[in-house]
Amino acid sequence: MSKMKSLVKRYKKKGLWLEEKEIPKYGSNDLLIKIKKTAICGTDLHIYNWNPWAQQTIKTPITIGHEFVGVVAEKGSEVKDFKIGDRVSGEGHIVCGRCRSCLAGRRHLCPNTIGVGVNRDGCFAQYLSLPASNGWYVHPSISSETAAYFDPFGNATHTALSFAMVGEDVLITGAGPIGIMAAAICRHVGARYIVITDINDYRVKLARNMGVTKAINVNQTSIEDCIKELDMIGFDIGLEMSGNPVAFESMLENMYNGGRIALLGLLPSMSKIDWNQVIFKGLYLKGIYGREIFETWYKMEVMLQSGLDISPVLTHRFKCEDFAKGFEVMNSGNCGKVILEWD
Ligand SMILES: [Zn+2]
Ligand SMILES: [Zn+2]
Repeated sequence: MSKMKSLVKRYKKKGLWLEEKEIPKYGSNDLLIKIKKTAICGTDLHIYNWNPWAQQTIKTPITIGHEFVGVVAEKGSEVKDFKIGDRVSGEGHIVCGRCRSCLAGRRHLCPNTIGVGVNRDGCFAQYLSLPASNGWYVHPSISSETAAYFDPFGNATHTALSFAMVGEDVLITGAGPIGIMAAAICRHVGARYIVITDINDYRVKLARNMGVTKAINVNQTSIEDCIKELDMIGFDIGLEMSGNPVAFESMLENMYNGGRIALLGLLPSMSKIDWNQVIFKGLYLKGIYGREIFETWYKMEVMLQSGLDISPVLTHRFKCEDFAKGFEVMNSGNCGKVILEWD
């Protein structure tokens, strides 16, 4: 068999096309991975919808997708640290290995990063070719469903572990899958109060299953009321996951002096903020992109082994042929993680 099913951005318009393609070639340092399950990311949804970012970034035709679990089907002659049959997930950012950041071990800050499923063929297919240096061996204690969304779990982990969390009060704006997983991590690592906000009732409800103190729809309950009810002054830590300037503004207003904020949601590039909030409160802001390669992956695995449960965030599963249903439920917002199955 030399052909495989592959979900391709073929035309410069809304949609994706399930096509027969050649199984990808792999080099001496690569893994050829037989894909079992993939998860749909917000990035994939942008490409499906063909939004302005996708129109600028994506060169058609391309197989998209970067969240996956599979098994090693073949490996290059130089690959020493994986065996045929190993269950693997993988880091979707392929870095140069030679820049200042890479040489210093800060590979997530490589300026020459190539994105799997964005700048080169991705994992929404029966096979993926990936540098072995990007592979992650999945521990047998971890389910394949969970391993399929290690990539966004990594974003959540990178964000939530940016600051010391023990005893702190945390505000998370945005109850999408990454916000919800971040909430579970904050609980796992010892935060006191965790308040998560959204404007979508489905997602607010989903967040309530993840150990938060309060999940509120800000169209019905204000963050200020929440602070009063919990008898607090303000939040010590903010995790901005929504990319919504109004949500970010409300976070700034409700931070305690000296608070720390990690920003993962992509705010519109010219968003304004009230700098008085940042300066007079002495706030600390940190931008988050991707995940630390591979320290974040290590933390993800050991947190799962020590009792963290992120499985409630997975709400929908579809066969790869039914991909359009998966993308449309993503567009509705009434979902957590959505998995496509390739077996
Ligand atoms: Zn992703
Ligand atoms: Zn680099």
